[in-house]
Amino acid sequence: MNDVTLKVDGLKKAYNIGKPGEVQVLHGVSLQIGKGEVVALVAPSGAGKSTLLHIAGLLDSPDDGTVAIGGEDMTKLGDRKRTAVRRNDVGFIYQFHHLLPEFSALENIVLPQLANGITQSVAEAHALDLLTRVGVDTRADHRPAALSGGEQQRVAFCRALANKPKLLLADEPTGNLDPGTSDQVFVALMELVRSSGLSALIATHNLELAARMDRIVKLEAGLIA
Ligand code: ADP
Ligand code: MG
Repeated sequence: MNDVTLKVDGLKKAYNIGKPGEVQVLHGVSLQIGKGEVVALVAPSGAGKSTLLHIAGLLDSPDDGTVAIGGEDMTKLGDRKRTAVRRNDVGFIYQFHHLLPEFSALENIVLPQLANGITQSVAEAHALDLLTRVGVDTRADHRPAALSGGEQQRVAFCRALANKPKLLLADEPTGNLDPGTSDQVFVALMELVRSSGLSALIATHNLELAARMDRIVKLEAGLIA
């Protein structure tokens, strides 16, 4: 059993290599997240938070360095295995909810489970349980457009957890919300994460929210400060 959920080592990433506008974003980033640990990733805009999260979540590849999830080196896996890990073991939350507009809140959480071979009734029960835990169960039948910004984001949290990942990556999950809503939605996210025993890396530039996590890592000049 591995007690380190995420371990990234020596990550380097540049954009536009060899072209005008070449930018070295990550200069050798190393960090690890233990089982059940919730870590804040803090850095100003443009520092590379999204780049790091995308690489950790296997949505992008580093130029150098390794990503291990649950003790397994992902950089050595083929595309199919990486896709399976991304689908089963990693939950991703963006600043914008990215819910499917033509489906209800419940259906948005059911669909990824069906894609994973879960039966409709089991998937619905799990989706409803998740919605209840974030206080949006009474809105289960509504489409995203009929929900408030805070509700949309709560549903997006549930969708990220639909397939019971072991690692949650969140990219400024409350960054689009007004301060009051942001606080409530953040509390809901933390309760969901804690009660699931998930490990999480949550990017934010809100130091007050960051202080409520287990640990803060700062990204500065492409390195963990
Ligand atoms: P953050 O999430 O902390 O705001 P990002 O990881 O989005 O930072 O971006 C870090 C730097 O990399 C910025 O200078 C940004 O302009 C640049 N960058 C990000 N993505 C790309 C891309 N696809 N092509 C070129 N430059 C990019
Ligand atoms: Mg970003």
